[in-house]
Amino acid sequence: MISARILVVEDDRIVARDIQQQLSRMGHSVIGLSASGEEAVRIAGSQQPDLVLMDIRLEGAMDGIEAARRIRDHHHIPIVFLTAYANDETVQRASLTEPFGYLLKPFEEPQMRTVIQMALYKHASDARLRMGERRYAATLASIRDGVILCDDRGRVDFMNRVAETMTGWPAAEAAGKPLASVFAATDEETRESLEDFASLVLRTGGLAPPERLSKLLTRSGAEILVEERCSVIIDDRGGVAGAVLVFSDMTQRRRIAEALRQAQSDLAHIGRLTLMGELAAAVAHEVSQPLMAILTNAGTCLQHLSKPQPDLEKTRKAVDRIVRDAQRAGDVIRSIHALARRTPADPGWVDINALVADTLSLVRAELRRARVTVETDLLKGSPWVHGDRVQLQQLVLNLVMNAIEAMSGPEIRERRLRVTTRAREGQIRVGIEDSGVGVVDTELETIFGALFTTKPNGLGMGLSISRSIVELHGGRLTAAPRLPCGSLFEFVLPLTTPDGAA
Ligand code: ADP
Repeated sequence: MISARILVVEDDRIVARDIQQQLSRMGHSVIGLSASGEEAVRIAGSQQPDLVLMDIRLEGAMDGIEAARRIRDHHHIPIVFLTAYANDETVQRASLTEPFGYLLKPFEEPQMRTVIQMALYKHASDARLRMGERRYAATLASIRDGVILCDDRGRVDFMNRVAETMTGWPAAEAAGKPLASVFAATDEETRESLEDFASLVLRTGGLAPPERLSKLLTRSGAEILVEERCSVIIDDRGGVAGAVLVFSDMTQRRRIAEALRQAQSDLAHIGRLTLMGELAAAVAHEVSQPLMAILTNAGTCLQHLSKPQPDLEKTRKAVDRIVRDAQRAGDVIRSIHALARRTPADPGWVDINALVADTLSLVRAELRRARVTVETDLLKGSPWVHGDRVQLQQLVLNLVMNAIEAMSGPEIRERRLRVTTRAREGQIRVGIEDSGVGVVDTELETIFGALFTTKPNGLGMGLSISRSIVELHGGRLTAAPRLPCGSLFEFVLPLTTPDGAA
């Protein structure tokens, strides 16, 4: 049982006292006894009782029905009428104040108990309903979409603020009008007018239509691109009680989507330009070494030929070297091109130990000139890797040339290059270690970026190309500092065994 704070309005003192006692026995508390309508309105305002028991006939100018109307209008306090008169006219007038019950005098205690309990329960459930409605109104007011509720005949029942602004129709004016006259939708492309969603729902017997993009023709004649969605309101018996139309302004979203598309295409264009720039830089970087060698050998040829008795044998050897270097330059260009397409140019089986040895012999002259001692610690046998020979040679060559350059400064006392190959867990690790200037900890990753260089004439492409080559072969390339000086560049590649190879 609910225990309530009750105001009793009854001008017969004896009856009032009797009611008060009965209410106390039921566990309620009487917060006031009033004999007049005016006083009852005042006490209800100041004390906010949970319930008012109101006699219809009262002393003074204001009767119980008028007092009840005022209390109901200002405070949501449930009223139960007490009356000795149940004639039609009185009941009709009293009904207009939406009372929560009647008690016909004289009444028994159990009867009063039931009517009061019913009134309190009904009031509690009304309060919940009102709270639900407030929540729902607050939600509709706060969302950014337009919302229009239509009744079971497709007429506008409710519009939120956004719907008012977008359509140009104040809700009060739109109420009761067919949806189509408030929300005129046309096909975005053909401009034909579209059947409004409320009519569509009613015609199809409650099927919610799929969302659509349309042009909303506003009251002032402007057009807004909107996305419309619709839900059906079903009543207790499963019939269509109405429809909810929700629509969002797509103008801004479309503008953003277009800007995004534009940005993406700009980016792709920049990407292509950058790739071309990187490609050009890569070609310049990789071809400069063989070109220099060709130039040197061509000079040697000229020297021999300009002698009165040219040494044809030496000249032929120089020309051989020119041919070899020119071929290598051609191979390098082809492999860079393949790299840009992200495919190994000419996959095959490569013996990594042999590759290291070949590469070191290619740069023998440079090593000698730079006074670098070379140490190798290679695996026994032939560790096979599946990949592109030219690209892999380019990789080792880049790392070795970098090592030589790192040791070229006059401050470097010991110039030692150590190349190792080790196998572990199906992988081969190739280490190229130098005793040069070393790489600072914070730049261990940056150095692999394209165009990053600390050298006055550097292109900053070697490591970026090298990493691409390793990754294309399913491996990893990393750098680490070496103590007391120098650095270790190491790449790991998957080891494979070619058919028929040892
Ligand atoms: P570049 O040689 O044209 O500068 P790289 O991409 O080959 O381009 O190298 C980028 C940078 O990485 C170099 O400028 C250098 O600062 C650093 N670096 C590369 N290898 C070494 C090394 N063995 N020792 C120290 N620093 C190195």
